[in-house]
Amino acid sequence: MLLKSRAVFSLGLRMCSTHVTTGPVIEPGRPSSDMSEFRKAFAKAKNIAIITGAGVSAESGVPTFRGEHEKWRKWHSQDLASPEAFSRNPSRVWEFYHYRRELVLDKKPSAVHLAIAECEARLKKQGRSVVVITQCQDDLHRQAGSKHVLKIHGSLLETRCMSCGQVTVNKQSPICAALKSKGAPGANVPDAEIPVDKLPRCEERDCHGLLRPNVVFFGETLDSHILTNVEKEMEICDLCLVVGTSSIVYPAAMFGPRVAARGVPVAEFNMNTTPKTEYFIAFLEAEVRPTSICHSERRTQRGT
Ligand SMILES: [Zn+2]
Repeated sequence: MLLKSRAVFSLGLRMCSTHVTTGPVIEPGRPSSDMSEFRKAFAKAKNIAIITGAGVSAESGVPTFRGEHEKWRKWHSQDLASPEAFSRNPSRVWEFYHYRRELVLDKKPSAVHLAIAECEARLKKQGRSVVVITQCQDDLHRQAGSKHVLKIHGSLLETRCMSCGQVTVNKQSPICAALKSKGAPGANVPDAEIPVDKLPRCEERDCHGLLRPNVVFFGETLDSHILTNVEKEMEICDLCLVVGTSSIVYPAAMFGPRVAARGVPVAEFNMNTTPKTEYFIAFLEAEVRPTSICHSERRTQRGT
């Protein structure tokens, strides 16, 4: 039992700031693992912002392409996910994205995605709101049932026309005939060198422009409309959860600290290993079903 309690705490629940009006105030910036403080803040919160990152997708088996050794063929994602790379070699970049699209289309939401979606549905009935602000480019939050999702880095399952700008949801597999069975990630796989007119093309009347994945490439600015919405959510939230992100990619890395600077509780969860994830899920489920006897018991057992 003690070990379990420790495991929960070692999960990395960090209150960057726990300025809770009825509870003790913990110095901003000083992490705490006081679950009761988090629980109080959760019970009172009307507008909860949940910031998610690659760790959440990794729970469903989606590779992050962030690690030093996580290469596709000879390249890191930053070598391929750039406007320059796309303009230089659209075939290679499309092969990379085709590979990632096929991976994502094959995955199911994890228990973390489901718990977050359930949290939104449950709190909505109580007149409370949950927004998911995600860096993930898959569709797993929506598949899990989350309604209010802001995807700050775009979507693998959308295309944008380079000529007319049309953005379209596209879940076709393969996205075009020429990419069928292409995109294998092995280091020695040769480029398919698909002619540009055989790559995904716009279906708008008289356009036929080259499509690109509707994701934010390295070096590109984020969608201003989405950023404006994120700003609003950051202003109104009274509790912020940062889940499965190493908080190194800007501007998302600043969201939590900005909210904490307003004196709003920010809880950070990282889930790099499966055992920890198990505890995270248990914890979040306990929080989203506070009246459940089953989960109350589980909480008691964990000594939290
Ligand atoms: Zn077009």
